[in-house]
Amino acid sequence: MAFLEWGEDARRLVAERPVFDAHADSLQRALDLGHDLGARGPGHLDLERGRQGGLGALVFVSWVDPKFIDAGPHGARDRTRGLLGEFHRLIERHPEAVGFAGNGVAADSLRRSGRVAGIPGIEGGHSIEESLDELEWFFERGVRVMTLVWNNHLSWIRSCQPGAGSHVPEGLSEFGRSVVRRMNRLGMVVDLSHAGERSFYDTLEVATAPVIASHSGCKAICDHQRNLTDDQLRALARQGGVVGIVFCMPFLSRAAGAEDQRLRETPGYKALADPNSTLEFLRQSDYLQLHAAPLEADVVVDHICHAVEVAGIDHVGLGSDYDGIQRTPRGLEGAECYGTLAELLLRRGFSVQDVRKVLGLNMQRVFAAATGPGTRAATQGLVSLSTPPFVSA
Ligand SMILES: [Zn+2]
Repeated sequence: MAFLEWGEDARRLVAERPVFDAHADSLQRALDLGHDLGARGPGHLDLERGRQGGLGALVFVSWVDPKFIDAGPHGARDRTRGLLGEFHRLIERHPEAVGFAGNGVAADSLRRSGRVAGIPGIEGGHSIEESLDELEWFFERGVRVMTLVWNNHLSWIRSCQPGAGSHVPEGLSEFGRSVVRRMNRLGMVVDLSHAGERSFYDTLEVATAPVIASHSGCKAICDHQRNLTDDQLRALARQGGVVGIVFCMPFLSRAAGAEDQRLRETPGYKALADPNSTLEFLRQSDYLQLHAAPLEADVVVDHICHAVEVAGIDHVGLGSDYDGIQRTPRGLEGAECYGTLAELLLRRGFSVQDVRKVLGLNMQRVFAAATGPGTRAATQGLVSLSTPPFVSA
């Protein structure tokens, strides 16, 4: 239940199901906890709550817990395959509620038919193991968005985190450039959230289709390495790209990040440790949501407004990171709440059409451009994974 009433305009907007959320991690709840994302459940996002909140398209991200990366050869790749398998199962189980959107045309028609346009994504190029063949394997099985790098540095791209070793390039290596070029040819959206600054600019230089930063905030408002500088926002806009403003506390407000950190040190939080890291994450997230001093949804709108001022109204969207963040601002507790943003943006003087752009039209435009005519995504069907349970090759 939203903390503030949505007015008539916001309710009408939500009924159009305009939301294109560029980043959510819900697949790991399906894989590790057996949650059916087609039914109302715990966590932040499922299709029922999404319907209530006006969700029309969603990037279902395969995020790889570091423990799988550290597990040795193929750790990240196999985990990604397992998570992608959950996406395939979801669309098989709930064809009335969600479908595979392999390109912008499919996404648009799914949304118009009342279903969620489901777009598989990969968070971190570790999953392709320095192989363009692996990249194609994932593409054929539906992946249309890849965050080039997560917080771990790769041999071909540096992330935004400190501590890169000498084997890590300053930005994007020659192989990294070939990844971006291949993604553009295939019709996969290049995602630069988590990328280091030099990697960010190197990628803009080589990309031939608009790129996104799927889940980031504005550094001018909150100085966090995961956020974008004003120069980055302007460069993204010049290239035709879009930033998806994230709902993650430490990126939105330093005080909120410190509050989370304080609570993580408490016995109550620590007592929720569990060998199942996804269950632990869910329980500890609920704990933070309950005990932390709340942060109002207005802070997300502050980041949106700043990004709009700097990059322009056509270059700002949403990337909630639902089920990948521990707690949410008040009023954005889950996928039923996107309308809160519509209401707050309208109150700040945005026109209905400008709110539509931020909620989804801008992301849809980039997705359509990157997967459009001339790319393989325009014609490629979905190659099925092995029947469940997924067995990795
Ligand atoms: Zn992320």
